[in-house]
Amino acid sequence: MYGLGIDIGSSATKAVILDDEYNLISSSIYPFGAGSSGTDQVLSKVFEQANLGWDDMAYSVATGYGRQRFDPADEQISEISCHAKGVGLLMPGVRTIVDIGGQDAKTLRLRPDGTLEGFMMNEKCAAGTGRFLETMARALESDVSCLEELGEQSTSPVEISSTCTVFAESEVISRLASGEAIPDIVAGIHRSAAKRTAGLVRRLGPVLEPVAMSGGVARNRGVVRALENELQVSIEVPELCQLCGVLGAAIYAIDRA
Ligand code: ADP
Repeated sequence: MYGLGIDIGSSATKAVILDDEYNLISSSIYPFGAGSSGTDQVLSKVFEQANLGWDDMAYSVATGYGRQRFDPADEQISEISCHAKGVGLLMPGVRTIVDIGGQDAKTLRLRPDGTLEGFMMNEKCAAGTGRFLETMARALESDVSCLEELGEQSTSPVEISSTCTVFAESEVISRLASGEAIPDIVAGIHRSAAKRTAGLVRRLGPVLEPVAMSGGVARNRGVVRALENELQVSIEVPELCQLCGVLGAAIYAIDRA
């Protein structure tokens, strides 16, 4: 028996197929989200890789920003529930989850048995999110996938004082114009994103460990390390961090089936 999860995010679309023992059969990430051709792209990929089709899926669950508009799914479940489920499978016993996606950041607190105790979300402003990092990377003529490596070469991070994406972009451009080294600007960008996220995490109360980070931004260990520094805790990142939400959706699919 197979279950399908599909996560239609604001920046990326993800799909996974699990079998009834929660083994990962296939997965796909497409770097465009709701409103793009992402759903078609990831579905054809996961079905092709697994040599399976829609009819082989016992149940399907959609999550993410664009989930309500995806009718073929048997059910739609919120990202909060799906991230709790997905990270819980990869890291049993986790108490705090920080998820930074393309357009929002959230922090979840789990009970020792893995159930959700509370959460906090920032969905009103791009500061500190994937979009913020994408804008900064573009100003540096780079790409988000290169920021980690660039930041590692920093010797003296600059202070980016604006958290607003638009003002921070102007600040980055003026730092570049004044001859600051790109790695130092990147390290400053990571610190700015981490400060913003740390504020959100603290609003949920004292940080309970173990702490995990999920979502696409966790692929940049520079942001993860900056957040560890801000919160003074160690943060684990599951290898499949960008797939945590969609894994949760697929786990729900298997459980429902
Ligand atoms: P959503 O579910 O909201 O669409 P994701 O959790 O998929 O968001 O994360 C998307 C974000 O992940 C992008 O905005 C980008 O900043 C970041 N990202 C994607 N790939 C990489 C990468 N290789 N390295 C660093 N960051 C990445």
